[in-house]
Amino acid sequence: MILDLRAETLDRAAREALQLERLQATLAWAVARVAFHRERLQGTVVKTLGDLARLPFLHKRDLREHYPFGLFAVPRVELARLHASSGTKGKPTVVGYTPDDLGVWREVMARAMAAAGCRAGDLLHNAFGYGLFTGGLGFHDGAERLGMAVVPASSGNTARHLLLLQDVRPAGFCATPSFALHLAETLEEQGGDPRALGLRYGMFGAEPWTEGMRTALERAFDCPAYDIYGLSEIIGPGVAGECEARDGLHVADDHFLPEIVDPDTGAVLGPGREGELVLTSLTKRAMPMIRYRTGDITTLTEAPCRCGRTTARIARVKGRSDDMLIIKGVNFYPSEVEATLLAMDELVPHYQLLVDRSSTLARLEVQVEPAPAVVARCGGFDPRHPTLIELGRRARARLVQAIGLTVELQLVAPRTVPRSEGKAVRVVEKR
Ligand SMILES: [Zn+2]
Repeated sequence: MILDLRAETLDRAAREALQLERLQATLAWAVARVAFHRERLQGTVVKTLGDLARLPFLHKRDLREHYPFGLFAVPRVELARLHASSGTKGKPTVVGYTPDDLGVWREVMARAMAAAGCRAGDLLHNAFGYGLFTGGLGFHDGAERLGMAVVPASSGNTARHLLLLQDVRPAGFCATPSFALHLAETLEEQGGDPRALGLRYGMFGAEPWTEGMRTALERAFDCPAYDIYGLSEIIGPGVAGECEARDGLHVADDHFLPEIVDPDTGAVLGPGREGELVLTSLTKRAMPMIRYRTGDITTLTEAPCRCGRTTARIARVKGRSDDMLIIKGVNFYPSEVEATLLAMDELVPHYQLLVDRSSTLARLEVQVEPAPAVVARCGGFDPRHPTLIELGRRARARLVQAIGLTVELQLVAPRTVPRSEGKAVRVVEKR
């Protein structure tokens, strides 16, 4: 279902005219109200969307340096809410919303959820964390905007999730992909069947995931799995989401203007070229974001989608530019390892990359669990069993071919790789 037929199917010329008008208003707003933007942008003239490429980038470090309110464009009395991203490097980055900003967030979130099959009257089980993290409240508000009822289960407490999913029988649920798989696996261990939960759709995000993970989730829950993308600096989840075609994520580009740039040079890249996603907010008032470097690696297309929406689409995010691993001069993303491993039915989506940088030449060891059916055929997990040795060899050969790097691969016993109740930790660095 297309929630906002007008906004989501605007023709190219009308869309670009609207984007330009909103971009100019955003720049004027930011220059008038935020010293940081005034110093960088005063006197800049933007007459076309192409002129955007001449403006400086905004980085996450700019948010940290102006912590907590330095980039806000409204006085505190006009704020309706604050969120913050986890401060892995010290202080968190704080973002703010006016009541209108919250309205925009609800609207774009509702569009993405409607595209994934959410309907008024549905019950949604929300397993994203509530709190400073935008996941929980983002889905919550979008669902209420659509006229759904929400079970605000939040993250953690696997047993309570399973109890609610079985007894309350929601139409759909949302979670990080790794937590969703953990729920399925735990339910099966208890003798339950995640396929019998009666779910019509699942919406996943907050960590990079692959087509292989999608297949695993859809098999586990017997319902389609949709990717929803967002980040707190821009608004939260709902910046982009998949439609039923599941051929890229539709960007709400009447509110967020996407560009793809070369992560090293900052040069704007054309359609279909892989690079870093840069977003400019077009309607946000509390904290306008101009050319924000998301760090997320993807591609952008303006090609029409068969669902009828005319908005730009981004490909599934491959990873964050700072998640890229460089080992023995070879660059790759953890998601490429996942894609290769999950193309094999005999492996399950529980894996970890152990990077050892203690010697001059870094080493990569991949640990992955074989599928329970394979272990059962071998009469239990024994790494010396010929079937498992052969499987390990094959998986390693595929990985070496896919990333072009000598790796070690170890099949590990079921339940050995740590499970996550939030975002999965895929890479462990040993220094
Ligand atoms: Zn579509």
